[in-house]
Amino acid sequence: MARINLDHIAHSYNPDPKSEADFALREVHQTWEDGSAYALLGPSGCGKTTLLNIISGLMTPSHGQVLFDGRDVTSLATEARNIAQVFQFPVIYDTMTVRENLAFPLRNRRVPEADIKKRVAETLEMLDLTAKADRKARGLTADEKQKISLGRGLVRSDVNAILFDEPLTVIDPHMKWVLRSQLKQLHRRFGFTMVYVTHDQTEALTFADKVVVMYGGEVVQVGTPEELFEKPRHTFVGYFIGSPGMNVLPCALEDGGAVIAGHRLPLEGRYRPLPGKVEAGIRPEFVLLTDDASGLPIQVRSVLDVGRYRVVRGTLGGHDLNAVVPEGMPIPAEPRALFEPGKLNIYHNSHLVEAEG
Ligand code: ADP
Ligand code: MG
Repeated sequence: MARINLDHIAHSYNPDPKSEADFALREVHQTWEDGSAYALLGPSGCGKTTLLNIISGLMTPSHGQVLFDGRDVTSLATEARNIAQVFQFPVIYDTMTVRENLAFPLRNRRVPEADIKKRVAETLEMLDLTAKADRKARGLTADEKQKISLGRGLVRSDVNAILFDEPLTVIDPHMKWVLRSQLKQLHRRFGFTMVYVTHDQTEALTFADKVVVMYGGEVVQVGTPEELFEKPRHTFVGYFIGSPGMNVLPCALEDGGAVIAGHRLPLEGRYRPLPGKVEAGIRPEFVLLTDDASGLPIQVRSVLDVGRYRVVRGTLGGHDLNAVVPEGMPIPAEPRALFEPGKLNIYHNSHLVEAEG
């Protein structure tokens, strides 16, 4: 297994890029630690597959280097990098049996037959495919074919890393959950470096030790699920993670306070004056609805009861403001919003600003 360094990687599919907009990856400079489970999370088109293919060696980046344990592998092919990659759609041999499909990557690498037998049997078991081991892949369902595809990645024990590109897209929701749990177990047991691409936050947050959030060809934050929740480093992270996402409100900084919709709120830290776009971010979970006169007046648009809590969607001075109200907590007729101290984040041109003290 290996530590993977992406050293100032940028990529354009255009051979003659004219501007930033021509780059699918703007600049990615990052280390993937040996043995960690990462999720690469971001909306469709943000560059996840491009980045994964650069790590695996299916693509050469237009700029920058890929290093495995300090060794430059930028121009090495996937096989030479010893990477297993599982794609969004099944990549299998229809005319081979399930068992032969799983054995194939091992035979290719001249693994001794006895080891092949053992590894294949374990993988079949794990994927619940033992009963179909001797069936031709051709006749199987889309789910089963994708499981074979997963198995072809998982069967190898010698890999530097296993990369998964939205591998469960074609799998039904229950099976998805089962397979994801199995991948996680497998990670605990064997400690492979795993990179799991998804556009689904639940999938990312339940699978990974560290989540890498991408947006518009850039990595905007790498963090634990808690860090992404508590301190989104970019308004996009706040918005993309959480349900509903973080509230983002225009704001002005004045005399140690934040002025939001004409109301002044004290801030915990000190911020220097910031030119340009300043916004305040507060998670709906940290918005308290009261009838206390010191709160900010909210217009309620809808209340959605989801059992353990209610989601109140409203506006503050014409801007959307959502609150999550725990079960049993009343919602006043004319609610006012208080923000939990210390939970207000300040953003300058969409990036988090740390207080000075
Ligand atoms: P994701 O996997 O996050 O959906 P991709 O890495 O596939 O994103 O794509 C990133 C950007 O690069 C998108 O704008 C996409 O249209 C563009 N792109 C992807 N593959 C190609 C290609 N082969 N040729 C040209 N543009 C591409
Ligand atoms: Mg993709």
